[in-house]
Amino acid sequence: MTSFEQLGLEPALLRALATEGYTAPTPIQVQAIPFVLAGRDVQGIAQTGTGKTAAFALPILQRLAADRRQPPRGGCRVLVLSPTRELASQIADSFRAYGANIGCRVTVMFGGVPKGKQVRAMERGVDVLVATPGRLLDHMQDRTVRLDHVEILVLDEADHMLDLGFIVPIKKIVATMPSRRQTLFFSATMPDEIGKLAGGMLRDPAHVAVAPVATTVERVEQAVIFADQAQKRHTLFALLSGQADGRTLVFTRTKHGADRVVRHLEESGLPAAAIHGNKSQGQRERALAAFKSGEARVLVATDIAARGIDVDGVKHVINFDLPNVPESYVHRIGRTARAGRDGMAISFCAPDERAFLKDIEKLIRTQVPVMAAPAGPGRARMAA
Ligand code: AMP
Repeated sequence: MTSFEQLGLEPALLRALATEGYTAPTPIQVQAIPFVLAGRDVQGIAQTGTGKTAAFALPILQRLAADRRQPPRGGCRVLVLSPTRELASQIADSFRAYGANIGCRVTVMFGGVPKGKQVRAMERGVDVLVATPGRLLDHMQDRTVRLDHVEILVLDEADHMLDLGFIVPIKKIVATMPSRRQTLFFSATMPDEIGKLAGGMLRDPAHVAVAPVATTVERVEQAVIFADQAQKRHTLFALLSGQADGRTLVFTRTKHGADRVVRHLEESGLPAAAIHGNKSQGQRERALAAFKSGEARVLVATDIAARGIDVDGVKHVINFDLPNVPESYVHRIGRTARAGRDGMAISFCAPDERAFLKDIEKLIRTQVPVMAAPAGPGRARMAA
């Protein structure tokens, strides 16, 4: 198996990856990182959830660090175009996390919020700008952002850009950039229109591709239980006490929610541990160790804390709360069914979470089967 070292990443990045808890590169990272480090254009077929962000962010950070320059006022060295504000924020967070030991200025801009703060963030220039096309074009027309010094352009989720009507704005944006630049182009699918767009932007690209996340999602048996907020804890206890063995990962949306679930389970005599942003590194490590050893059969986590956790043999994932970002659902349930094994994911959906469920079903292009709430401890049986 290839390691991050073997891909040619430098120690400052390797240290950041260790902090994130990543032990080995994903297939898209193995394929793309060497090309990006070598300065090649890349055309990649990869969905969110495959580790695609790190596949471009890591080698880009390394290239920036190897050749430090001051970006111009209002300008950036790297531009990442993303279709949605959620994805843009996640990408910016990833650059910050991976670049923690390198020192790189990252900013994010999207619509629906005042422009002033975004303008101020750009005043001195930034290393990495992550933006949605509409808002970026607004800033360019206001002359508060300039792209004539961009060295690397990343276009993420190109097919999603097409769905959202961003192709014309993207062409306008790209037209103002230097033609001598490195371009990385990612899309989950490559219909004709996207292929043409890529053809117009890339020079002699290296092609990389990985299987869509859907193949992971398909291996996981999924179910949804409709339950009021107040019923959720009883439902959880009933499910867990009816389950014979295997590790269960429970996701909550908030840190307090995670602590409440652990408290409730422990009061009911089920050993559980929590990991989230308010826990120290030591507490996180102890919780993970207890989960790995089987001392705590249940680990309760928030999305952010669960990033990069890689525990084998997670049989069940329970979404105590549904994520408001549909991609998180795919990441969460991907924690089971690792290494070709089957797994089961059960989601609790309160009346005010129905819209989240709809978004998830749209993303995974499947309707999640409805399961009846278990009646009480002992009677519920989870699929083994
Ligand atoms: P992405 O496809 O970029 O949205 O990444 C999906 C998820 O996988 C994110 O939560 C990342 O933090 C996580 N991730 C990316 N690369 C790795 C890796 N090599 N090992 C473990 N987790 C990773």
